Parts: sequence; structure tokens; C-alpha cells
Amino acid sequence: MLRHFIVISVLLASYSAQAEEPPFGIAIHGGAGTITRAQFSAEQEQAYKDKLAEAVEAGHAILAAGGESMDAVIAAIQVMEASPFFNAGKGAVYTFDGGHELDASIMNGATLAAGAVAGVTTVKSPIALARAVMEQSVHVMLSGKGAEQFAEQQGLELVANSYFNTDARYQQLLEAKKRLGVADYQAYLALDERFKYGTVGAVALDKNGNLAAGTSTGGMTAKRWGRVGDAPIIGAGTWADNASCAVSATGHGEYFIRYHVAADICSRVKYQGVDIVSAGDTVIHDVLLPAGGTGGVIIIDAAGNVHMPFNTEGMYRAKRVGNQPTEVSIYKN
Ligand code: ASP
Repeated sequence: MLRHFIVISVLLASYSAQAEEPPFGIAIHGGAGTITRAQFSAEQEQAYKDKLAEAVEAGHAILAAGGESMDAVIAAIQVMEASPFFNAGKGAVYTFDGGHELDASIMNGATLAAGAVAGVTTVKSPIALARAVMEQSVHVMLSGKGAEQFAEQQGLELVANSYFNTDARYQQLLEAKKRLGVADYQAYLALDERFKYGTVGAVALDKNGNLAAGTSTGGMTAKRWGRVGDAPIIGAGTWADNASCAVSATGHGEYFIRYHVAADICSRVKYQGVDIVSAGDTVIHDVLLPAGGTGGVIIIDAAGNVHMPFNTEGMYRAKRVGNQPTEVSIYKN
């Protein structure tokens, strides 16, 4: 009798502990664009999926252990920055002049603190530098040489610019330059989405109810004149606010800047009281697309709901919410 009582009590206790566990979760993207099944062999597709799963699980493990959403975002993004598959860190696209200029940003939804870097060329993990700007400087955004001096002062790992080289991205540069001719800007804008997809990002909710978002990219193939996209622009490519949601974007940066996409989605949630599905779909499909902007976003809210809308053929993406299994997707369903 006593034994039964103990067993039932233990079961009830563990059930209520589970029921009371606060929501937590993470979503990531590895870029949006003209991604079709025909482009990949089964092995290549699996390799991408495995890397996305590795990234989302790196972040999820931190959250499951009670860690902070900021740390989860960094961990997930660093897996993708280190992989040649994505246009961030190693594998970043080439500039017109044959180098790499990297942009990244991060935002803490609990405090609205933010950090960003633009046009860095020797910092191995631009997202780590964005965080250092947020936490160790009085500024929000640093660029170019100064950002690199700051990285060195902070003891972050520096590499030769050639560390970011990959043959696949180099071939894209040659192809893009052929099509650009004499660098006609209109032709540049019309370039295939193939030349820019692969930006990475993560959004997370931790067990303390804190949201965070981060984005890291090499920008667009054959960019020049110090072009900076949306990824390091707080409100355009990255936004997090505990009162609404956290967003990381990928796509044609010029449009994401002009339509301040990440912040617009969260503002709709905050001021219109709509959910992230409605806010995300409206901005991506009804605002951005008619204006000519292609791409997508990942969104998480304070209840752990995730939505990942895009208006391109595909978007590399994955999520893991609470104790549910990891879900990885590339194409439209
Ligand atoms: N948004 C990035 C940029 O414009 C590129 C991308 O996400 O594909 O720099």
C-alpha cells in the first residue's frame, strides 16, 4: 500500500514538473533562395540537413540545460559559420574584388541591447564579435578596420581573409562577374538569388522567458564599394524584444533594410496584437514580395511558437521546441 502511494506520488511529481516546465526553443536558417530538389544529390541534401540539425541541437542543448538564449543563438550560428555550406564565416561569398567582407548582428530581447559589425575581413566568428560589441563597448555597430582592431583587443580569433575561401563560392563570383559585365547596378540587382543565399541566423527562447536573435553573412556575391546588407542592421535583419518576438532574416538585403522587416514583424505583434504567423506572413508575402523583395525570416515568440515564412523557392531551416524532436526543412512542403 505504502509502496503504491510512493510510486503514485513520484509519478505525479514528475508529471507536474513536466507540465510546469517553461517553454523554450530555437529556430535557425541557413539562407533563402532558388533552392530546388534538382540541384542536390541525395547525399548533398543529407549533408545540409545534418549540418542544420547539428546547429539547432547545439543551441537547444544550452536551452534544455537552463542556459541563456543569447548563448544558444551564438552556439547555433557558430556551427554554421564554421561550415563551408553557408554564406557566413567559412564559405562566405566573394566581393567584386575577390575577398570577403562579413556582416553580423545580435540582439537581446530582455534588455534590447544589441551589437553589430559590418565589413570585417579577418574575424573568424563575426557573430562573436557582434556580441563583444554589445557587451564590451558602448556602441551598437562597428565597421571595417576599427571593428577588427576592437576584435583584436577583445582577444577574438583572427584569420587570414583566405580562410573564408571555398571553390564553390569562387565559381559563383566568376559567373556573377560574367553576368555583371561592367558592373551595371541594375544587372546586379537582377542577379539570380543563387548568388546570395546562405546567410545564417538563429532565434531562441530560454526557460527564463528571454528571447534573442542573431544573423551572420558574407552578403551578396560580387558586392562592392563597401556594400552593407540587412544582416547587421538592427530592425532589418535582426530584432528581439521579450514583449513581442525574435526574428532573423535572409534575402535581398536592400529590401529588408527599406522595409525594416524584422522590427516590422515584431511591431505588428506588439501593437496590433496579431500572432507571429499573421505578422510574418503579412510582411513576407503581402508587403515585401509586391515591392520586389525576396527572402524569408525565422520567428519565435515568448510562448515558444515558431514560424518560418519565405517567398522564395526554398529556405534552409530547422527548429527544436521544448522536448520535441528536431525538424529540418529545405523546400516548400
Ligand atoms: N540578406 C543578406 C544580404 O543582403 C543576404 C542573404 O540573406 O542572402 O547581405
